[in-house]
Amino acid sequence: MLGNARNRLRITLIAAATAAMAAFSMAASPAAASLAATPGAAHTDAAWANCPNGYVGLTYDDGPNPASTQALLGALRAGGAKATFFIWGQHAEQYPDLLKAEQSAGMWIANHTATHAHLTQIGEPAAYNEIATAQNTIKRITGQSPTLFRPPYGETNAQVKADAARLGLTEVLWSVDSQDWNGAGTQQIVQAAATMRAGSIILMHDGGYQTTVSAVPQILSGLAARGLCPGRITAGAGGGAVVTAP
Ligand SMILES: [Zn+2]
Repeated sequence: MLGNARNRLRITLIAAATAAMAAFSMAASPAAASLAATPGAAHTDAAWANCPNGYVGLTYDDGPNPASTQALLGALRAGGAKATFFIWGQHAEQYPDLLKAEQSAGMWIANHTATHAHLTQIGEPAAYNEIATAQNTIKRITGQSPTLFRPPYGETNAQVKADAARLGLTEVLWSVDSQDWNGAGTQQIVQAAATMRAGSIILMHDGGYQTTVSAVPQILSGLAARGLCPGRITAGAGGGAVVTAP
């Protein structure tokens, strides 16, 4: 009975997420902004209270982006899900209100460098400064210092890891690549997400891709069907990234 009730709740949530997606695709941005900013709108954490098969990390890189951030937030909130946003510092400077909207929506805010540089190629102190500058930008706008860092292109080495550690950051790569940055369609993104297991972290982008936004309801329903839940990425005991309950 409990299972049936939970399934019904999830079906309701999926329907709500789908409806929210339709609303976002039609809505002018002020309406989208007001929906995303409404606390508790079509949002319930109870849907994810039971996760028999564990947690996965949903991640969105390179934003904020006026073409996708609000729609992503709306879709995630409609499904009661939280994700980690790896912030491109210069974009946060351009769109500070979108970064604040991510924070208000309860998303986790993380560091993705100031200019999306190739950290292993630019030398020191440039690599350190890329990470430190983004850290300062995010702190100034949100009032909070990120604890997670993802090097652009996943390019890292011992020096980059040391830079991140010096700033109190845990490096987070990924185990599943959605290929949204490479032209993957919505169904391909959903299929990539379907390969996640407990502890997986999937790479997606807040990069203005409608495909990524459209994939959210199906990703969430697929996770629910497999007893997996969106979780929080944190530093594990060994210093690496792990995914835990939100
Ligand atoms: Zn990136």
